[in-house]
Amino acid sequence: MNVLVINAGSSSLKYQLINIESREVLAKGICERVGSDSAFHKHGIDDNEIVHDTPMEDHDAAMALVLEALTSGPNKVIDSLDEIDAVGHRVVQGGKYFSASAFIDDDVIAKIDELAELAPLHNKAALMGINACRHSMPGKPMVAVFDTSFFQSLPPKAYMYPIPYEYYEKYSLRKYGAHGTSHRYVADRAAQFLDENLSDLKMITCHLGNGCSMTAIDHGVAIDTSMGLTPLDGLMMGTRCGSIDPAIVPFLMEHEDLTFNEVNDVMNKQSGLLGISGISNDLRSVRTASEEGHERAQLAYEMYSHSVKKYLGQYIAEMGGVDVIVVTAGVGENCEKMRRMIFAGLQTMGIILDPEKNRHGKGEREISSDESQVQILIIPTNEELMIALDTLDVVEHMRLEGTL
Ligand code: ADP
Repeated sequence: MNVLVINAGSSSLKYQLINIESREVLAKGICERVGSDSAFHKHGIDDNEIVHDTPMEDHDAAMALVLEALTSGPNKVIDSLDEIDAVGHRVVQGGKYFSASAFIDDDVIAKIDELAELAPLHNKAALMGINACRHSMPGKPMVAVFDTSFFQSLPPKAYMYPIPYEYYEKYSLRKYGAHGTSHRYVADRAAQFLDENLSDLKMITCHLGNGCSMTAIDHGVAIDTSMGLTPLDGLMMGTRCGSIDPAIVPFLMEHEDLTFNEVNDVMNKQSGLLGISGISNDLRSVRTASEEGHERAQLAYEMYSHSVKKYLGQYIAEMGGVDVIVVTAGVGENCEKMRRMIFAGLQTMGIILDPEKNRHGKGEREISSDESQVQILIIPTNEELMIALDTLDVVEHMRLEGTL
């Protein structure tokens, strides 16, 4: 079984063709700057990557290039589109409608469209990807996998904002979370790694990349997460500020004479590691500068780890303890120094990092010391594989039911 995983952005189309039995990525690539004169298509198998500058008017044109590259030319991996059994689409916002991945039909498309009000750029882009696949592969089973569905289990006390209730009723303003596919994947893998049932564990998963979020998973059920109505909330990130005093927004608008869009830009694109260090949103550059004595880079580094610590404390309090903490994504998987700073001083809470294990190793592994009551794991995330597995699950279930 081969599943094509599509992650469509407003001007990009990322894809992976995954063989489910072997879990192998047969080919992957990206079409970028779709709709502009400088569009290009990168397509590769293993380290063999081909880049073509080629015009793409829209997502339909990009999809046609992707399917052509998969089935012909030097980097072809399948003989015909019949070898693609199903397509899985990443969709950012599933709102209150989707607590699980869903087979894409007209009703699901209408709901994704309706929810675009909550994630305008993202859901519209996903629809462009979905429509492009419908046009190029009519009748191919397709499944939508939502970033938010894992968090539909949150209780109202965690997802409501303490603002007038009418705004929730009028606009569905509440916490929806994001990165759900990643949190779900690493939580499942962590339980398998430990040979335990997820439903027996209190777990905190930390997705620390450019975008950062953390989730409290109590006996297999997500009960709180750090991202909110949008992915701006929660932890300090590469360029996003995370939670700040909301009064800063009107203050800046008034004192810097900023429009709504400008202040939005400040919080989404000019804050976080970049805003504090003044150097970069990339933690590697911030680390190098901090080691050379750059004070603001040191501050940025400290703030990032402090922000993770705050949520660890919050979620331990919410669950009445924790058995397993999982770190993942670019920073979580690779930055030994940041992990050291995050877990420093938590010994009295039974959380003890093993410095040697933290420094060495690759792939899925435990990095807590033998005396630690809490197990700390690194689990590399794989959202595409999770989307492919979900797609297969939904399609097989429908086949068994006889509805496909
Ligand atoms: P995205 O949210 O864009 O998917 P990633 O999960 O790829 O982000 O994470 C990107 C972040 O990971 C960047 O800040 C980058 O500096 C950091 N990173 C990647 N490799 C390392 C490393 N070896 N050491 C420290 N930071 C790293």
